[in-house]
Amino acid sequence: MTRLKTAIPKSELLAQDHQHCWHPFTQAQTAAPPIPMVRGEREFLFDADGKRYFDGVSSWWVNLHGHAHPVIAEAIAQQARTLEQVMFAGITHAPAVQLAQALVQRAPAPLQHVFYTDNGSTAVEVALKMAAQYWRNQGQLRQRFLAFEGAYHGDTFGAMAAGRSSGFYTPFEDWLFAVDSLPYPHTWQGHGPSADEAESLAWLDQYLLEHGSELVAFIAEPLVQGAAGMRMVRPAYLRAVVERVQAQGIPVIFDEVMTGFGRTGTFFASEQVGVAPDLLCLSKGLTGGFLPMGATLAQPHIYQAFLSDDVGKALLHGHSYTANPLGCAAALASLQLFEEEQTLARIQAQAAVHTEQLARLAQHPRVQRVRQSGTIAAFDLQVNEQNQYGAGAGTWLRERAAQQGVLLRPLGNCIYFIAPYCTANETLIQAYQVVSTLLDELA
Ligand code: PLP
Repeated sequence: MTRLKTAIPKSELLAQDHQHCWHPFTQAQTAAPPIPMVRGEREFLFDADGKRYFDGVSSWWVNLHGHAHPVIAEAIAQQARTLEQVMFAGITHAPAVQLAQALVQRAPAPLQHVFYTDNGSTAVEVALKMAAQYWRNQGQLRQRFLAFEGAYHGDTFGAMAAGRSSGFYTPFEDWLFAVDSLPYPHTWQGHGPSADEAESLAWLDQYLLEHGSELVAFIAEPLVQGAAGMRMVRPAYLRAVVERVQAQGIPVIFDEVMTGFGRTGTFFASEQVGVAPDLLCLSKGLTGGFLPMGATLAQPHIYQAFLSDDVGKALLHGHSYTANPLGCAAALASLQLFEEEQTLARIQAQAAVHTEQLARLAQHPRVQRVRQSGTIAAFDLQVNEQNQYGAGAGTWLRERAAQQGVLLRPLGNCIYFIAPYCTANETLIQAYQVVSTLLDELA
């Protein structure tokens, strides 16, 4: 009988995994066996041997309030017993409507219309399609997109085209549409205004002069480029970029899939930039990290460009699980926790611990380019890469830290923490100590 078994012996689980499961971003032939995780609680995960791990990267940046939070778990269970799923064309339901209202209330005005998707990549995909059709519906065929050099927007085709940065896309390069790259200033090392910013803006001015009338949209991860290696820019610089693009009536898409829901210290990074994007992409923390869901928010002028007697001018896009009631219920419970648990205050407190710990770590000879944006804390390893660490120093550090109960997911040599907001200060401080002690071992 096919029934979920909760207690499979570890060796059997790993053997079955090896035979049937295809893991993301993993070379199965050479990768170490995966850790068989059994349960989660607050900032911790527990494996099949009962070993406890601090989830230092919030399980790919999704978890906000802690694992298995009873309020979110109960909201999902209740919704599952009431209405688990229904198509969202020709039908609506309270969880979707309430969540849309709540998101619009928190998003920078005048973002007013919410389109639900399944994950971060499709939230981006939808934004790109909305921007393209926005022009076409007005009788203009525009073909250029602009994105930051080094960006990461997800792994579907449109998102890959906008991202480009990643070596992951090499096998698909022939199928990706062209996207122009705006130079990313090297102020991401955490310093003040720089010549790089001025150069980037000058490049943009020239580009807009030459190609502004062909441009569909500009897309950016506001304040922090995540997968590119936690590269941070100053809000004032990004504001200058956005103002230049919007001054020409070109839609700006903010991909807040990672930065949304408090990660950078404010509810949305857009708040610090001080501008409202025309389109805003959300996912990851949207459901508190419980269920896969995304959303693309649009300003009224974008939405209105799709209103017509002509069905062909509608956004003919959707997913089977668009506005899934379980995801909406989880997201509403997560927003409720922001109020009940004073999450924004917790975020400030956690950010202060990072600042203190990073300052200490910055003294370490193996640490360079220490940087922080709210609860995103990062630095680069300074090592000689003569390959004495096998796959690389980042991988070495990840494996050693996991042995000591700290889960990390370095991006090359960029080591970062993005912890659940409920993380106790002692847990975080201990994790920094584990990293610091391991760095002592690095040649
Ligand atoms: N956009 C950004 C900024 C991301 O960081 C990610 C994932 O890391 C995505 C989009 C893609 O999201 P997903 O993995 O849910 O498809």
